[in-house]
Amino acid sequence: MSSAPRHWSKKSLAAQALGHVDPITKAVVPPIHVATTYIRDPDNQYSSGYVYGRPDNATVREAEAVIAMLEEAEAGALLFSSGMAAATAVFGALDPGDHIVAPTVMYWALRRWLTEEATRWGLKVDFVATDDLDALKAAVRPGQTKLVWLETPSNPLWTVTDIAGAAEIAHAAGARLAVDSTASSPVVTRPLSLGADVVMHAATKVLNGHSDVIAGALAGARADEFWARIQRIRSGNGAILGPFEAYLLMRGMRTLHVRIATQMANAAELAQRLSAHPAVARVLYPGLATHPGHAVAARQMTGFGTMLSIRVAGGEAAAIATAARVALWKRATSLGGVESLIEHRASIEGPTTPCPPDLLRLSVGIEDVDDLFADLDQALRQD
Ligand SMILES: *Cc1c(COP(=O)(O)O)cnc(C)c1O
Repeated sequence: MSSAPRHWSKKSLAAQALGHVDPITKAVVPPIHVATTYIRDPDNQYSSGYVYGRPDNATVREAEAVIAMLEEAEAGALLFSSGMAAATAVFGALDPGDHIVAPTVMYWALRRWLTEEATRWGLKVDFVATDDLDALKAAVRPGQTKLVWLETPSNPLWTVTDIAGAAEIAHAAGARLAVDSTASSPVVTRPLSLGADVVMHAATKVLNGHSDVIAGALAGARADEFWARIQRIRSGNGAILGPFEAYLLMRGMRTLHVRIATQMANAAELAQRLSAHPAVARVLYPGLATHPGHAVAARQMTGFGTMLSIRVAGGEAAAIATAARVALWKRATSLGGVESLIEHRASIEGPTTPCPPDLLRLSVGIEDVDDLFADLDQALRQD
């Protein structure tokens, strides 16, 4: 599928989407494969390896190869119709009665799914502050816990969990470790290299980066029976990505490295400036030495990500009013895109949220950092 030499850096390989070209025309951008079915050989075989469009699509496989390269995933990568479809496929590969440990602070829709749906199918779930490895160790039940789920840095406090430490605890108990690495991206953290068994991405967010695709991805450390079951679940549940979405995602990933570099530089600069702002009570950003996860983040990440949150000194009403007054920042949920987004997180998570009511979540884009700060500054100063 690809002739790109493996000694080229990931930045080079991603920029060229692994060098996929159209074999007939030599077009530098491969076509979008839309066929739902493939011709069987006269001798009754499928020598192309492609049988039917649900499990088999070349555009999807090309995008998966880019993700597998970025994560250095031996088992490869699998794309799904959304981040939720990717995450729930991992839980679906467990058996009724299996015990799961997941973080207290995590993506709210997945937390709700675990509490309200996974339990109906016989999975037992405990939530624990996974950034405290002693608490994690106390929560796993050797022999019964089959999966430890992490999200790091996690929404919306950007709590950082020590992946290598958690992997040791999970594996000692006979459990697998899965990491939702959405907020971090493979450019900044590689959970498989730290001992994780599966990495999950809401490719909707940083990987695609342009707020125009809903997609999810898993990358696997090894092609074992658990991974094969996840593969069967994707095909059986039909939670596949469409070829056009796979193409858009692959286009987005070509600029992943440059987007992330600019977004991280902007986030770091904003975190500094906002820390000194009189209307800001606290900045939550792993790059600040005052953040509880800073030391672990500095060790396991090559940057501090593109996300931060601020707690507004005037409280909940002031936070909502601040979000109402920005112009350059877009008042919307989601994250990781080239456009900067601001969100009063507690409003969308509902009454059971662990998110403080005075918190605004900032997804930092690639705009001019002075413009981004000036817009926030005028909005914050009006209270
Ligand atoms: C958005 C998100 C998800 C879910 O992804 P969807 O594509 O919206 O289904 C999961 N985890 C994290 C951290 C996310 O930000």
